[in-house]
Amino acid sequence: MQTLDAGVGQKGARKGVGPLIAPLSDLQRPLRQQIFERVRAAGMIPRVQVAKELGVSPASVTTITSELIDSGLIEEVMTARDSDSGRGRPAVALGVRRDAHRVAGMKISDREHTAVIVDFAGNLIADDAIPRRPGPMTLNDLLLAMETLLDRVCAKAALSRADLSAIGVGVPGFVDSLDGIVLWSSILNDRNVPLASVASRRLGLPVWIDNDANLVALAELWFGAGRTLSDFAVVTIEHGVGMGFVLNHRLYRGSQRLGMELGHIKVQLDGALCRCGQRGCLEAYVADYALAREATTALNWGHKDAPPIGVLLESLYDHAKAGNATARSIFRRAGRYLAVGLSNVINLFDPALIILSGERMRYDYLYASETLAEMDNLAINTGRPRPPIEIHAWGDLLWAHGAAALALSSVSEMLLAANREIAAQ
Ligand SMILES: [Zn+2]
Repeated sequence: MQTLDAGVGQKGARKGVGPLIAPLSDLQRPLRQQIFERVRAAGMIPRVQVAKELGVSPASVTTITSELIDSGLIEEVMTARDSDSGRGRPAVALGVRRDAHRVAGMKISDREHTAVIVDFAGNLIADDAIPRRPGPMTLNDLLLAMETLLDRVCAKAALSRADLSAIGVGVPGFVDSLDGIVLWSSILNDRNVPLASVASRRLGLPVWIDNDANLVALAELWFGAGRTLSDFAVVTIEHGVGMGFVLNHRLYRGSQRLGMELGHIKVQLDGALCRCGQRGCLEAYVADYALAREATTALNWGHKDAPPIGVLLESLYDHAKAGNATARSIFRRAGRYLAVGLSNVINLFDPALIILSGERMRYDYLYASETLAEMDNLAINTGRPRPPIEIHAWGDLLWAHGAAALALSSVSEMLLAANREIAAQ
């Protein structure tokens, strides 16, 4: 029988208790990485402040920051002294060396591919976008599009590919970011595509990929409203419905890196058919294609001469605004299903904030007070206020910024790991 005294094994051998955390896991990052990340987050910060915030000795901060300066990752920057202590000499702070590395971030989507190039401190250098026709494509077409976009944005930045250290890429669908595999995506014909390695060979640079909704959450965590929050959700509503969740200031990915497929939670048994092949998914009621499907049927817009989905939705929205009852009911119904999804997020995770993000944010029928009231009814009643809901219509560049953040964090982790090995020798 299992006993509770797991700490003491047979014959005095000690098995230990408590979580067994891998030595270099996210929870136990080396001090040099913590210091670097502190400097990057602060922008400019004196050494003594780094020591204070991390609770370590100023001497160890001085040693490690000297190494980081020697390896060209951070630099000393002069700041204006506080007026009360001004003696004519500027104070010395630390900052990330902007031109140490540059990375590209790309968003691959149904309607448009977008890209940014940022420096090592996360400042935007250039951006670009190329439109595309919706629908799945071959891997070769995708690689060609990525290559074209990369060369265009490099040209805008007056850089060559060799000036970049890595590329982050956001793709809709089920993506295993660690192994770099797209298991399924609405933009690819094939399943189980090892996109990171194939793109890396084609572009001659390290490539990291992730689910696009994760990258919007990463963008909010790095550049937006999520910088100061430990736990928040980003729900993206566009061609599909996605969610990125930040737990304790880190992106939550799940054990197989496939967590948080909000679009495929079931809101109706045997309900509407979803693109994933199952029925009753939230996405099948809320996403663009779901609204378009309803519109073509209810408003008797023939399938044959149906306009592109964007035009169709604009038209549906115009009808709703003009008072067309059927058009309004389509948005209202989608809004009610969205309320079900959002209330489930609140009930499961108790986030500090829910950010709704995506190109579709302008269809404000979906986010009407009725939707929020419905959500309040469905969220558990604790007597405490529910988390605030913010609507961020930042556009596609935000997603590309998230992809750049993925590349930046991967590059810095690799470099700091390399430093660690050198230091250990
Ligand atoms: Zn589904």
